[in-house]
Amino acid sequence: MTSSHQPTPPFQTPDTRSGLSNRHRRVLARWLYAVTGVSLIPFAVLQIVSGHVILAGAELVASVLLFTGYLRVARSPHLQRWIYGYLIPLFIFFNVIIIVPEASISASVWVLMMPVLSYLLLGKREGMILCLPFMVAGSIGYLYFLENIDSARSVIDFLNLVVGGTLMLLFIHVYEQRREEAEQRLINLAQTDSLTGLANRNRFQELLARTIAESQRSNSPYALVVLDLDRFKQVNDTFGHEAGDRLLKLVGQTLIERLRGTDTVGRLGGEEFGLLLRDVSCDDTTQLIEQVRERIADTQLRYRGQDISVTASFGIAHSSRDGHQADALFRTADRRLYQGKRGGRNVVESHDEPSNDELTTTPPRTRKGTDV
Ligand code: GH3
Ligand code: MG
Ligand code: MG
Repeated sequence: MTSSHQPTPPFQTPDTRSGLSNRHRRVLARWLYAVTGVSLIPFAVLQIVSGHVILAGAELVASVLLFTGYLRVARSPHLQRWIYGYLIPLFIFFNVIIIVPEASISASVWVLMMPVLSYLLLGKREGMILCLPFMVAGSIGYLYFLENIDSARSVIDFLNLVVGGTLMLLFIHVYEQRREEAEQRLINLAQTDSLTGLANRNRFQELLARTIAESQRSNSPYALVVLDLDRFKQVNDTFGHEAGDRLLKLVGQTLIERLRGTDTVGRLGGEEFGLLLRDVSCDDTTQLIEQVRERIADTQLRYRGQDISVTASFGIAHSSRDGHQADALFRTADRRLYQGKRGGRNVVESHDEPSNDELTTTPPRTRKGTDV
């Protein structure tokens, strides 16, 4: 096993690209399908009355399709496709009603709806990619509708649309960008331990669940390691809480430096840390953690002219022997950790103590170190 990279940052991206959760996007998409489907019916009736039977037929077909969409979106696993399936025809429709000969001059206002709908339903990146070409096409279509752009009034009408549309797109883009950043900051805060910057307990548990699922799928081994600093209370009592805090940060840094980019380090609480090692055999885990134990024991914090050091005890649970249940893995790693504490601290425990009536060789345990 080699090390070097920073372990995976404890940050999670939201489950949806837009400002809405997937559930709300689905609700909104259904609502849009239904409202559009209903509103086409009176238009179809008016077309029949005015003798435009083909147009009326097309609107009725569209209405039926929209109702089908309304029913299917509720459960479809392909929500994104249904959203595109709604927005693309709608935007084409918006552009067509600008250029038809009987078009109302106000038909162009629908161009302004494009960024609103696409950013809301698709988020910043996909929203912009979808709406920008349609907005440009709508503006060109409007130019075509105005015909004689040489009159000052036509130029004003055209500029109203272009400037209004550009500003609308710009505002929505900036708003969405700020919203995404604020959301990411909140997510980071909720997932990070403020003292060490490591994943907090909740995040660590999420990453453990994800590691279990992914490793089971790829049939690759992984290890959960829990470590607790030895006699840490004495550090606080002797040097003060601030020194204790700085030592906790230093230990977190030491752990990050020693592990690989695919591994995870978390602070589970107090002076207890969790390590999640992927693609690692049982023996390699013990060897690596042994090196980590030594490195922590060798690390010294210079604080107000004094060198402070600390040791840690480790309990290892490995998927190959201890199963794939997060709770059971935690219990096993904890049990071994406290076995190590009882055995003298500054140790790595990867096996359970043999019971009295069991005849076994002594499980691997490292030398006992000096406690702080
Ligand atoms: P053991 O070897 O049995 O683990 O002994 P210990 O002293 O480390 O364990 P104990 O549970 O008695 O004490 C843990 C100490 O960790 C007590 C608490 O003051 C300290 N601690 C927990 N969280 C923090 C923290 O955020 N900052 C500081 N400075 N100390 C902390
Ligand atoms: Mg402790
Ligand atoms: Mg503790």
